[in-house]
Amino acid sequence: MKAVIYGGKGSIKVENVEAPKLRSDTDALVRIKAASICGTDVRLYWGTMNEMFGYEAGEAMGHEFVGVVEEVGKAVRHFKPGQRVVSPFSTHCGHCYYCERDHITHCENLTAFGLGKRWGALGGAQAEFVCVPGADRTLLALDERVSDEHATVLPDVLTGVFASFEGLRGGESVAVTGCGPTGLAAVMCARLLGAGPIFAIDHHDNRLAIAEKLGATPINFDREDPVDAVRSQTGGRGADVVADTVGKLGSINKAYALARPRGTLLMIGYVDPKEQIDIGVASLAHVLIKPCLVPPIRRYQPRVMKLIADGRLDPSPLLSHTMPLDQAPRAYQMMADRLDGAIKIVLKP
Ligand code: ZN
Ligand code: ZN
Repeated sequence: MKAVIYGGKGSIKVENVEAPKLRSDTDALVRIKAASICGTDVRLYWGTMNEMFGYEAGEAMGHEFVGVVEEVGKAVRHFKPGQRVVSPFSTHCGHCYYCERDHITHCENLTAFGLGKRWGALGGAQAEFVCVPGADRTLLALDERVSDEHATVLPDVLTGVFASFEGLRGGESVAVTGCGPTGLAAVMCARLLGAGPIFAIDHHDNRLAIAEKLGATPINFDREDPVDAVRSQTGGRGADVVADTVGKLGSINKAYALARPRGTLLMIGYVDPKEQIDIGVASLAHVLIKPCLVPPIRRYQPRVMKLIADGRLDPSPLLSHTMPLDQAPRAYQMMADRLDGAIKIVLKP
């Protein structure tokens, strides 16, 4: 089968590899219909998080996928061949300390798709087939009203952001830093949950224009100071909630200033461990910091899927292009260099 393979820093290849087989009675083999490229994939392509992940040339990529069940193991009860399914980016065992406490993405036996040997060498989902362990626990039957393309936001980005906003009651002012796929998803979810005003901060005008269409006040930080802009529209206080999707030192230390005292900083973006967060600034600002990376996606997927199916969340603005799997090298380059207005790209085998 064809699969997208990491060829070393800045290199993506489409290669013929051996198709996966069922590894246990509880597995399902899924024929991929659509798989999207994540910011994490782009970081692996750049080589910036590979050391931490132990990610080497030759690994298969992709963890956001939708497909049709091809074959199931003898012990699989809830799925059968021909069924459309979606998965979270990772799997969990269901019986460890963290699974028992519902923190399933901290599962002691967690495996993840397309993220290399350290997480179970599951193989990548930017391919024709993938083998899904613990199918009954992992997979979710896809609502027929949700298209393959739209469903690719369920394994990670949109569900993850939705989960991050747990507790939002409506009426809060929200400042979102970064208007990539995660930032735009944050604007969407904040809006859906009744927050407002919502500020979207970036310096790419095309992305700010999308955020504005989704209901945010755009702030281009090349042209105006975001802290001044947010404070001037929140009674001088700052935002109740800041959703940082950038994860860079500058953006995080600035995010404290965007939040009002006793406001909340949602750390939604991946933060490189080398980044130094200014804890002194955080302490003085009295901003509550909430790490939001790897929420329990599978728990939130049914709710987010229903919101999409009912037309209350529309993933279209996050998905700028759909391309054949063969064009993965070009698609990665487009996402990494933000070419042709690329936001998030869906690959179809
Ligand atoms: Zn992802
Ligand atoms: Zn577990």
